[in-house]
Amino acid sequence: MATCKYCDRYVADNEKAGMDDDFKMFHPECEPKSINKLTDYESGEWDCVHGYPARECESAQYYAGYGDAYAKEQNANWHTDKQFEEIMGEANEI
Ligand SMILES: [Zn+2]
Repeated sequence: MATCKYCDRYVADNEKAGMDDDFKMFHPECEPKSINKLTDYESGEWDCVHGYPARECESAQYYAGYGDAYAKEQNANWHTDKQFEEIMGEANEI
């Protein structure tokens, strides 16, 4: 008998059960979308979106994803600031 590492409920020990590197079992449906399942590009985006520094020694795809997410974030911030200024009526005072 084993319990799910994510929800602590019983996991049937069959071919459908997931198992991690430490032999801990889990329901496949409980597994969070982990970084290991992402493409390199997506893990780059994921790290950036979650505010993690870019990891070293990753593939070009990783840095492409990270860079794109970073650029999007900068754009989003720029729009937000711009809108904020307009709302506050201070755009011309800077
Ligand atoms: Zn579970």
